[in-house]
Amino acid sequence: MGSSSLLSAFARRLEGKVAVITGGASGIGECTAKLFCKHGAKVLIADIQDELAHSVCKDLGPTSASFVHCDVTDESDVRNAVDTAITKYGKLDIMFNNAGIIEAAKPANIVDFEKAEFEKILGVNLIGSFLGTKHAARVMVPARRGSIIITASVASIIGGTSPPAYTCSKHALVGLTRNTAVDLGRWGIRVNCVSPLGILTPFSRNFLGLDKDDTIEVYSNLKGAVTKPEDIAEAALYLGSDDSRYVFIMMVTIELDILTITKLNS
Ligand code: NAD
Repeated sequence: MGSSSLLSAFARRLEGKVAVITGGASGIGECTAKLFCKHGAKVLIADIQDELAHSVCKDLGPTSASFVHCDVTDESDVRNAVDTAITKYGKLDIMFNNAGIIEAAKPANIVDFEKAEFEKILGVNLIGSFLGTKHAARVMVPARRGSIIITASVASIIGGTSPPAYTCSKHALVGLTRNTAVDLGRWGIRVNCVSPLGILTPFSRNFLGLDKDDTIEVYSNLKGAVTKPEDIAEAALYLGSDDSRYVFIMMVTIELDILTITKLNS
């Protein structure tokens, strides 16, 4: 193989692969959809924000990306998203369970936390990933291949930085990842999670009460902690590609003893 073809082989790390990305209309999911398409994947965005998702797909072009309306808390929607990928593209190689919510200005105090709010956050963040994993496995097990990626959070490792329901949902996603990685590993299906910290997206703007033009500075003992959705998209690219074919479960243990997020520009 000549040097130029070697370069192009590396340039398109998902050639021929098919991915479903939940929460792909915005933030980390949108950024990942763009990167996956750039690397040759066919991407089906599964989200509740139809208009936004359509505009992302328009940018990516009809041969690379398409959209299916999918509320990840609704099992029939999730089943339909997976089946749509199969009907449209013939298979499913990568399931990125990324959709998530955190309610703005909700009390971190458990005494004031409403049960309905707790259930809502667990519904999207935890049950949504469970359903995505379940229905991806339904088609990946017979195919004996696949990579399932779950967006957890730094809140899956530490407490106190987020409302209780969010922290619980993200801790539980590590359990879901661990358990399913062992369960599905025997079929050659890999399950991994990524744990972002302080990424500037509509999600964090909403939570931190930031205006459109505000930026943030994340300070922690983790020097060089990432702050861009592109960085998480790169991690998902690695986990979705064959470069990580021996990575059946990636557990990163960190000690986070300082975390401050400062609002800049205002
Ligand atoms: P975002 O708000 O930009 O994107 C989230 C997407 O999920 C949106 O497109 C939204 O429409 C979609 N979504 C919400 N509820 C849904 C539902 N019921 N069904 C389907 N789609 C739904 O936020 P983001 O920052 O890109 O967040 C993506 C993931 O990253 C989330 O799981 C979040 O918990 C996680 N995360 C984000 C940060 C951060 O600092 N931004 C840090 C840690 C973890």
